[in-house]
Amino acid sequence: MELHSTRALPISKLRGALKGSFALTPDSEGYEASLHRWSEAAEKRAAVVVQARSAEDVSTALLFAQEHGLEVAVLGGGHSTSGSSSTEGGLVIDLTKMRHVTVNPSSKTIKAQGGTIWEDVDLAAAQYGLATVGGTVNHTGVGGLTLGGGYGWLSGKYGLTIDNLVEAEVVLADGRIMTTSEKQNSDLFWAIRGAGQSFGVVTSFTFRGYEQKDPVWGGLLAFDTAALDKVIDFANKLVETTEGQSGMVVGIGAPAPTHEVRILTILFYDGDEEKARAYYDALFKLGPVVDRTSEMTYKQVNSMLNAVSTHGDRKTQKGSAFTAPLPASLAKTLVQDYSQFIDEVPDAKKTIILMEYFSQRMVNNVAQTAMSFANRGFHYNILFSTQWTGAQNDAKCREWTRNMGRKVTNELLKTKNNDGVGEYGNYDGVSSSSAQDIFGINYERVLELKKRYDPKNIFAKGAVFDV
Ligand SMILES: Cc1cc2nc3c(=O)[nH]c(=O)nc-3n(C[C@H](O)[C@H](O)[C@H](O)COP(=O)(O)OP(=O)(O)OC[C@H]3O[C@@H](n4cnc5c(N)ncnc54)[C@H](O)[C@@H]3O)c2cc1C
Repeated sequence: MELHSTRALPISKLRGALKGSFALTPDSEGYEASLHRWSEAAEKRAAVVVQARSAEDVSTALLFAQEHGLEVAVLGGGHSTSGSSSTEGGLVIDLTKMRHVTVNPSSKTIKAQGGTIWEDVDLAAAQYGLATVGGTVNHTGVGGLTLGGGYGWLSGKYGLTIDNLVEAEVVLADGRIMTTSEKQNSDLFWAIRGAGQSFGVVTSFTFRGYEQKDPVWGGLLAFDTAALDKVIDFANKLVETTEGQSGMVVGIGAPAPTHEVRILTILFYDGDEEKARAYYDALFKLGPVVDRTSEMTYKQVNSMLNAVSTHGDRKTQKGSAFTAPLPASLAKTLVQDYSQFIDEVPDAKKTIILMEYFSQRMVNNVAQTAMSFANRGFHYNILFSTQWTGAQNDAKCREWTRNMGRKVTNELLKTKNNDGVGEYGNYDGVSSSSAQDIFGINYERVLELKKRYDPKNIFAKGAVFDV
C-alpha cells in the first residue's frame, strides 16, 4: 500500500464531515498518545487517526479512507501483538472514545460500545449483580477479544464470549450501518462471531448477562519447578471434573524479583474462600512459595492478572492447544525450553507460557458450524506470550515464539480428535496461521461472506483472505 503524506490529504474536508469525532494528524495534540498499543512493537505511525464517537462518523471515516486509498486499521483495546490495530501511513478508526456501557436489568443484557475494555463491562454489570464471559485481563478490548471468540473465567459455566453475544451494530466497508443478530442479518452475525475483525467495525455489542454472586475467590500460587508433575496432575483432573465453578491457568514464568523459573497457578473459584480452599486443598498441600490468593468481588477477578500484563515493552504471542491429560514429559520439555530461552535472551525474562485449563463443556455444547469460530473441542489453549525490550531481539523472540507454537501443535496432532482447529485465532500474534488454519470447517462460508460484505478487502488486518 502506498504511503500518504498527511499534507496531500483533504483533512479539513474530513474534519468538516465528522459530527463530533476528531481527526488527528501528526501535528495534532493527542496524536502521539493515540498510537500507543499494549506492545510497543505493534505501534505504527498513521497518517490520520479518527477518534470516533458514533457509528455515523465511523462510516464517514471508512469512506474517506477508501476515497483516498488509505489502509484501514481499527483500534479497540490495542492488545493484538501482530499490529493489526495500527497502520503505517493509513487511517486508524480509533474506538477508544466509545466506551459507554448500558445494562438492562429486566432483559439481563449488557450493551457495550465498540471501544470498551472489559473493566468497563465488569464494573457496569456488577452494579446490577450481573456478569458475562469477559477477558481475564480487564484492560483488553471487548472488540478484538469478542470478534475472535473470547475465553474467560466464566467460560466453564457459559461458554465463549461470542456464545453470549445477542446483537451487534456493524459498520460495513461500504459505509452501511447494520444491526445484526440471530434474527436480523443473521449471515453477518454468523460471520462476525469468530472472523469479526475481517467484516466491519463493530460499534456496539449486546451480551447476555448472568446473575453473579459475590464473593468469589482467586489469585496466584507459585511453586518451585519440582512441583511441576503434581501441579499438572491436579490441573488435568480438575478440568475433567469441574462443573464450571472453577478455572485454572498453569503458567511457566520467572517473576520478579528473583526471576527464578516458577510454576505459576492462577486460580478462580465461583464461591467463598472456605469452599475454594477446600476445593484447591491438594494444591495448597504442595507448599506454594508464593500465595496471593484471596476472596474478592467478581468485578475484581479480571484484574488479578493485570500486574503481569502491563502495557509497554516489545511483545509477541502465539497460541496452540493441548489435550488433557497433558503428559508430564511435555510439560517438562516446556520448562526446559523456557529456561534455556531466558538464559540465552535474558532481556526476555518477562516471557510467560500459559496453559488454560478452562472447562470446554459449555463451549462444546454449541455446534462447530453455528458461527465462524471453529475451535470447539476437547483441547485447551496454550499461549506463548513473549516480552522483551530491545529491538535487536525482535527476530530471535518472534522465532522462538513461533517455534514453540509449532512444537506444541505437533504434539497436539498426535492426540487431538477430529474436532476444532486446535488454535485460537486471537492468540496468533505472529500471524503465522492461514485463514484456513483458523476457520477450518467454516472457511468456505467465511470466504463467501467476506466476498459479499467486504469484496475489496478493506478490513485486511486480520486473517488473510484470498478475495
Ligand atoms: C494481556 C492479554 C490478555 C488476554 N486475555 C485474553 C482472555 O482472557 N481471553 C481471550 O479470549 N483472549 C485474551 N487475549 C487475547 C485477545 O483476545 C486479543 O489480543 C484481542 O485481539 C484483543 O483485542 P483488543 O481490542 O484489545 O485489541 P486490538 O489490537 O485493538 O484489536 C485486535 C483486532 O480486532 C480488531 N478490532 C478491535 N475492536 C474492534 C471493533 N470494535 N470492531 C472491529 N474490529 C475490531 C482490530 O482491528 C484488530 O484487528 C489476551 C491478550 C492479551 C494481550
